[in-house]
Amino acid sequence: MVEVLKLYNFYSQRLRDCTKVMARLICGNRLAFLSEEHKLLLTEHFSQPQKTAQPRELAIKLGFEYAQVIAILAVLATDKLCRNYLLIYHYCAEACVDRQPLNEGMVTLPYTCPYCEETIDTYDDLQFDIMVETEVSIEFV
Ligand SMILES: [Zn+2]
Repeated sequence: MVEVLKLYNFYSQRLRDCTKVMARLICGNRLAFLSEEHKLLLTEHFSQPQKTAQPRELAIKLGFEYAQVIAILAVLATDKLCRNYLLIYHYCAEACVDRQPLNEGMVTLPYTCPYCEETIDTYDDLQFDIMVETEVSIEFV
């Protein structure tokens, strides 16, 4: 029984070591408006790998201004800690109908909505948002 317990402790320790892979985001002057409490909140939010975040959602969750969240996401992207996507919304659906890497720029017109198959000739008929997707856990320091 003691042996089993030892083995269990050994493997659970190893598991903890494996999950310790965490990137550090040095906020410094780039995100000077973040308090230590903010950094803890952000670290908690991004503590799981493969986390997605949308600015509006994150602003509400953390009590930040939209512009502050954009700044945080920009720094994450600059440090290559996330992939950015352009989310495309059409009136036919509440969720986004499509997404593409942000560095590909704007969708080209005419655009065919993959959801309702309507052909769209103007950006006025679409709405956009950005989303970040992280690969590893991120610690904000
Ligand atoms: Zn549609």
